[in-house]
Amino acid sequence: MDTNDRKINVLAEQLANQIAAGEVVERPASIVKELVENAIDAGSTTIDITVEEGGLTSITVIDNGSGIHEADIPQAFLRHATSKITTSSDLFRIASLGFRGEALPSIAAVSRIELVSSDNNDGIGTVIAVEGGHITRVERCNAPLGTRIVVKDIFYNTPARLKYMKSVQTEIGHIADYINRIALAHPAISISLKHNGNAILQTIGSGDRLQVIAAVYGRNTAKAMQEISAEDADYTIRGFVSRPELNRSNRNGITVIVNGRYIRSFAINQVLVTAYHTFLPIHRFPLAVIELEMHPTLLDVNVHPSKMEVRFSKEQELKQLLEKTVRAALQSERYIPAGADSV
Ligand code: ADP
Ligand code: MG
Repeated sequence: MDTNDRKINVLAEQLANQIAAGEVVERPASIVKELVENAIDAGSTTIDITVEEGGLTSITVIDNGSGIHEADIPQAFLRHATSKITTSSDLFRIASLGFRGEALPSIAAVSRIELVSSDNNDGIGTVIAVEGGHITRVERCNAPLGTRIVVKDIFYNTPARLKYMKSVQTEIGHIADYINRIALAHPAISISLKHNGNAILQTIGSGDRLQVIAAVYGRNTAKAMQEISAEDADYTIRGFVSRPELNRSNRNGITVIVNGRYIRSFAINQVLVTAYHTFLPIHRFPLAVIELEMHPTLLDVNVHPSKMEVRFSKEQELKQLLEKTVRAALQSERYIPAGADSV
């Protein structure tokens, strides 16, 4: 057969990355999410995020984590290049937030990146510049331990996607929402977010989750929260749930964290709704930060490229334990309706 008749090609790496970018990089907030996850995986205790114009102009993430070894730096931008898993059995016991090795090449395919990283305390690191997926510069430079990444001109080479970006206000809303939740998930990390020069969030990294709740939602909200904790052979549950007098008209005040990962879970949200049944009027929802910990083998995080969904292998048991824990907390603090004290 003549090779000219062949119609199936293996796509060039840059094209494949652009396609992956369609899933991984939906909007500026997805870039922030991937970069912050990398900083957390690197063991950082401080992560500073600076965003201009809703992230459409630039996103900078500076961390004090382990950094990237000089020789690995160009490698980090290759598709499916990761330091976090090596074998397929690792895929069933994921302990890091990243593992797909897709974020950096996907982001690089649709933006201009400059990354400076050092994995030592000699003050020497490497700077790499990548534009639309192509490395344009790699050289030694002065750098502290950790990584600084600047992502500019997002979607400059994919105008169709750029057209779908909403207002600066909407985009920073998504970014702030994610950063708030990741700060709630990681109270021991000091996290700051600045937008167009304005401070949006600053946590101190003391490890006190109630302090982060106060930073995100205000002190009065923090005062109206009740701590929960429970443990069985498979699961550890920790967190805070609102006393019934503090409630909302939607479920956005519920943050679910699984093994350090902020996730969306209809199932867990539903457990809370059930647990608050009789404590809240219909169509009112609690505020809650629920942290679940379990052995990684009880969890499948490889459900979607955004890693926002998970599957629990013993979902029923987990739901029962959580419902029981939340109900017990609500019952222990018998709710006294406003005005009842005068009766
Ligand atoms: P993944 O996180 O799935 O491994 P990424 O594309 O996000 O894939 O990153 C590729 C690799 O680059 C990571 O596995 C890690 O080794 C390295 N890396 C990326 N960001 C950082 C960072 N902030 N600090 C240290 N290493 C990093
Ligand atoms: Mg990653």
